[in-house]
Amino acid sequence: MSRSAHPAGPRHADVLHEGHYSAPPADLNVLDEKVWSRTVTRDAEGALTVGGIGVARLAEEFGTPAYFLDESDFRARCRAWSDAFGRDADVFYAGKAFLSRAVVRWLQEEGLNLDVCSGGELTTALDAGMPAERIAFHGNNKSQDEIERAVRLGVGRIVLDSFQEIVRVADVAQRLGKRQRVQIRVTVGVEAHTHEFIATAHEDQKFGIALAGGQAAEAVRRVLTLDGLELIGIHSHIGSQIFDMAGFEVSARRVVQLLAEVRDEHGVELPEIDLGGGLGIAYTSEDDPREPHEIAKALSDIVTRECESAGLATPRISVEPGRAIVGPTAFTLYEVGTIKPLEGLRTYVSVDGGMSDNIRTALYDAEYSVSLVSRRSDAEPMLVRVVGKHCESGDIVVKDAFMPADLAPGDLIAVPATGAYCRSMASNYNHALRPPVVAVRDGEARVIVRRETEEDLLSLDVG
Ligand SMILES: *Cc1c(COP(=O)(O)O)cnc(C)c1O
Repeated sequence: MSRSAHPAGPRHADVLHEGHYSAPPADLNVLDEKVWSRTVTRDAEGALTVGGIGVARLAEEFGTPAYFLDESDFRARCRAWSDAFGRDADVFYAGKAFLSRAVVRWLQEEGLNLDVCSGGELTTALDAGMPAERIAFHGNNKSQDEIERAVRLGVGRIVLDSFQEIVRVADVAQRLGKRQRVQIRVTVGVEAHTHEFIATAHEDQKFGIALAGGQAAEAVRRVLTLDGLELIGIHSHIGSQIFDMAGFEVSARRVVQLLAEVRDEHGVELPEIDLGGGLGIAYTSEDDPREPHEIAKALSDIVTRECESAGLATPRISVEPGRAIVGPTAFTLYEVGTIKPLEGLRTYVSVDGGMSDNIRTALYDAEYSVSLVSRRSDAEPMLVRVVGKHCESGDIVVKDAFMPADLAPGDLIAVPATGAYCRSMASNYNHALRPPVVAVRDGEARVIVRRETEEDLLSLDVG
């Protein structure tokens, strides 16, 4: 079992989902509300609609492939998270899942904070008017320039990831005459994957400073001696696409233990703990994610209990959901190009996108589902693999799924739950033009990230 962290998804999904899709669903026309965004439904003719607009019109107006993002669903999920955590906690949306200026504005309007992990994400956030104090800056190798900008602009917290960085951020803050609020990211020896977690003493991965061997305690010691830094808490992020709260339980216990040690050694009680993100969503009907209020209750119960037993006041909690907010809110719409039945194996369905708009299947063996959405069909189910148009046999969008046997070139098919880590990880492989993101709400659709053009490609190529 690998112990490395895969921020955008589990690498072992194929193992964990063994037997998945062994039988076709009873009715291929059913759009399981678990995997589709909230306003998705089929109209009287059987075509999918989102935000009240049919896919035929969306395809006509915006082309395919394209991501369609259900704005009211996005906003509802933001509210569900902030309501669930209430006033004693902070919700930071992890911008790396998907970030654009429109998204930043929605986050502000819904009262969320934002995690960034690069100068580019920081610029996008600030340009859309996110107040710097509501931004957390992450990353295991922030550049000198990124640190300077973050401190100068006054981001609310920088999450320190190494001993070198402690010194770098302190130096910059001192030079600018500032006191930068920081957290220390620790590795707690927990790696969580979907339905299981592994608790270990050490972690073999690049992020954070180990609790093991007194490393994290030493980092706290150093930070506390530096005038330029104000230590506000401890940060831990244990994995992604997690359903089981047991990993958070172990992680919270170990972080609280560190808080107790810090109090005993330095006489200070750090006011905050950040438990990171990584909460799972339904990519297929097999997945059963928890609601934000259940997660909030579980996390706050764990922290309260651990703090009580350590004799500490309960710190303010922050969480950083990315996927759990944006993931379920979007689907990718493709047009079927070619269909190849391979006798005794499966049928290969080629679409007009692929690994350039969704790398997660190739990278993490991620599971997705797919539906015919331009019409209803009562044809028999056939086992398909949905593949892209790239020059790569690993260019798979959906590894195994059932689709109606009368599927034909020109049909529109859609892959749900592609809001997180699809557009944000999209590439120009084969000089593909990255698809647009179209926000749909109450009968209106508007482009929030436009489709790339061949001029865009040529403009980077300076000859
Ligand atoms: C990636 C990441 C997140 C978000 O993870 P999701 O799986 O999208 O919820 C949160 N915090 C940190 C530090 C991360 O690296």
